[in-house]
Amino acid sequence: MKIYIITIKSMINKVSYVVANWELTISNKGEKPHKNPNKLDWNQNSRRCFINGCSNKVYKTKMSGLCKDHEYHQFDLLLSLLDPSGVNHSIPAHHDMINCLMDWSSTRNFPLSPFFEKLSFAILGNVPDISSLSGEVTYEKYKVKELNEIFESSKKVVEQFFPESNNSSFQPLSTKKGDIPVIVLAHVLMSLIVCEEANRGDRWHCRTIRKDESKTTQLGGAMPIVYFAARSFNWGVEMKNVARNFTPN
Ligand SMILES: [Zn+2]
Repeated sequence: MKIYIITIKSMINKVSYVVANWELTISNKGEKPHKNPNKLDWNQNSRRCFINGCSNKVYKTKMSGLCKDHEYHQFDLLLSLLDPSGVNHSIPAHHDMINCLMDWSSTRNFPLSPFFEKLSFAILGNVPDISSLSGEVTYEKYKVKELNEIFESSKKVVEQFFPESNNSSFQPLSTKKGDIPVIVLAHVLMSLIVCEEANRGDRWHCRTIRKDESKTTQLGGAMPIVYFAARSFNWGVEMKNVARNFTPN
């Protein structure tokens, strides 16, 4: 007799919000889920795959705790952007947006380092990986935050540096994908950092579940911040184009 196991497909809640009449939506629309970098069986206690509903056996020594079917995340967060007329707008590359922000800030005595530092503190290590966010992996003593809670706290950082009450926040910047107001660009960048952290990061798992952040192996959402850091550092050589290699492909 064949036994069929039906697993209920886990869910990722969609997050949508409007800034200066532009609509940002973060949802599970990505097409390339990444390998799950977490060592779910870090204490090597389990012989079963850690994905809920999967009964596949896994070697006790395999620290990922994931069977062959589940080595990759099943979800991939993607950001989409609608302009004020409701038309889908292409998202500029990370380095393009950061170049625009740096050019803009240099003309108005607005240092960007504190903004990127606050984004780093607020996001890196605080965003669960996508398999934990979707509920495919659950933890006995820990309730995983919802995606919208994470966005509520990350949005506050952008609002602090690019307030809606300040006219200059609405200045359009010329990206390679067309003009976008600086306040929207800052929210897009923050949202991409959250998505990268969930799609590729392992810092949250190391910090929160393993209680040892030094075990982190992935840059995750740090990648765009690394580009800013590389361009801000006084190298003594021209780095503008080369620093792009630090950003995700
Ligand atoms: Zn499995």
